[in-house]
Amino acid sequence: MDNSIQMCDLVSQYEGLKEEIDAAVSQVMSSGRYIKGLEVESFENELAEWIGSKNCISCGNGTDALYLALLALDLKPGTEVITPSFTFVASVEAIVRAGLKPVYADVDKDTFCVTRETVEKVITPNTGAIIVVHLFGQCCDMDSLMDLGKSRGIRIIEDACQSIGSGYTFQDGSQKRGGAIADIGCTSFFPSKNLGCMGDGGALFTNNDHYAAKIRSLANHGMAQRYHYQYIGINSRLDAIQAAILRVKLRHIGEFFYSRSSAAVYYDSHLSGDLEKYISIPSIQKGSVHTYNQYTIKVSGGKRDLLRNYLADKGVPTMVYYPNPIHLQPPYMEKEGVCLPVTESLCNEVLSLPMHTELSESIQERVVNAIKCFYRV
Ligand SMILES: *Cc1c(COP(=O)(O)O)cnc(C)c1O
Repeated sequence: MDNSIQMCDLVSQYEGLKEEIDAAVSQVMSSGRYIKGLEVESFENELAEWIGSKNCISCGNGTDALYLALLALDLKPGTEVITPSFTFVASVEAIVRAGLKPVYADVDKDTFCVTRETVEKVITPNTGAIIVVHLFGQCCDMDSLMDLGKSRGIRIIEDACQSIGSGYTFQDGSQKRGGAIADIGCTSFFPSKNLGCMGDGGALFTNNDHYAAKIRSLANHGMAQRYHYQYIGINSRLDAIQAAILRVKLRHIGEFFYSRSSAAVYYDSHLSGDLEKYISIPSIQKGSVHTYNQYTIKVSGGKRDLLRNYLADKGVPTMVYYPNPIHLQPPYMEKEGVCLPVTESLCNEVLSLPMHTELSESIQERVVNAIKCFYRV
């Protein structure tokens, strides 16, 4: 048996669900209905109900979901959209593709997410929307961000690609799931996400029927009725085969969350104590449940890369999400007037450890022991 440690083990997850997934895929193949159709419709309905949103519209991937959400808001060209620079490139890419202007908000040094304070600093009279990113599996401070959006009349899109369904409890006691909180929520079914398919896929959530109808049309060439067009759209669809796989996985999502959070409990308890001087374990945003798409520690003292190389030598893979802020990458370069000290320092401190639904304690023990060995504790 191969006992190498993997950052994300998708094959073992498949093996556990093989019978159900194979049956679902084979049923689609025999149906002759490969695009749209009942499988996709049923998945959308089941996911809308699970996440608690009136509408779920599936699409080709999470990046398209963000782009479609921005198009649905109908902002004037050049309108500013606030988003973090400490994230995956997709939200910024979607803003630029939609003819809008990205404006970067810094993130909290502990939760890695934007906050009311960091967003408020960069609001101008030309701000049209905010894309908050629920990074690594937990929600931003949505109590205060929703309040900010309401008081300033600015619409909010959630990038819930890494945190689909993470629970969030508001101060008034009401509960929602990440992706179903703001005006429009976006998610991705990229294989390594918390609800992943076996290819590309994405979805949008909204309680606003006007946005829902517009997004549905935009994702299908801007079509109204067949061969009658009302918008300039794109072609972005979820395959029936992927929908069938996702329907199986949605039935197991509670188990996936449980595996990830149990693994996080193990890391939390074994990486605190003597190691606290050197590394910090993830902080949890008040009100949010963390679903640990990534388990990301911070390494102090400028030792991140040394630790990473040491672990690699010991057969422990790690990843740096993210090594470079988006605003310092060539196509998006923007230095003047941009002040993102937390973002820039996090890029040198963060380190994501192996995290997936099939992590055993013996694997985690090897990860933890290698880290302890590095620090000689
Ligand atoms: C994965 C991801 C996306 C994009 O999803 P794709 O399906 O790969 O297009 C967007 N934002 C964040 C934060 C992501 O992690």
